[in-house]
Amino acid sequence: MLLMKVLVVEDESKTATYLKRGLEENGFIVDVAEGGEDGAHFAQTQPYELIILDVMLPGRDGWSVVTDLRRRGVVTPILFLTARDAVRDRVKGLELGADDYLVKPFAFSELLARMRSILRRGPARQSTVLRVADLEIDIARHRAQRAGCVLDLTPKEFQLLYLLLQRSGEVLSRTLIAEQVWDINFESDSNVVEVHVRRLRSKVDDPFEAKLIHTVRGVGYVLEQHA
Ligand code: CA
Repeated sequence: MLLMKVLVVEDESKTATYLKRGLEENGFIVDVAEGGEDGAHFAQTQPYELIILDVMLPGRDGWSVVTDLRRRGVVTPILFLTARDAVRDRVKGLELGADDYLVKPFAFSELLARMRSILRRGPARQSTVLRVADLEIDIARHRAQRAGCVLDLTPKEFQLLYLLLQRSGEVLSRTLIAEQVWDINFESDSNVVEVHVRRLRSKVDDPFEAKLIHTVRGVGYVLEQHA
């Protein structure tokens, strides 16, 4: 069986540990994020089959995370955990784009049943294609193409292209790119971003006449179509 990767966003360490252990025993690979900010970041930069998202989180709550992820085109199924069995909360979660919910406390067997049900529905239903000129990426299928030719990208190159496309027209600094794609604090002597942009260009731009990835000297990079 293919191992499924699941993200658990939960600030209560006891619950998080319980979920992680239980899911791992059931053959899932589990990442835990302790807050909404980390959770949203993981969900955008790592491929997960499913996200288990607690609503009550310090700082940034689960509602904000769901809204943000859906707005950014992340269509990973989300099962949210709510402490109160309030109809309003359930409806809100589903309206914001979550797929299902569970009321705490819940039986682990019920969580597994809900997860299997969501996973059986298969991949996302929404369109997940981002496009600039003749370049497009399909996030759900994890595929990038230009002028109809599929681009052979490494996972990091794909993430980098995704970030540039998602924020096309916007100049992104090397620091921001390093944080978003590598989750590292940028060190000024590191050229990891430059190296990857160069490789990405060799695939995305070099074979084509119109260049889409542009360097803004001293600032960073922007992906856009120049007239
Ligand atoms: Ca909580």
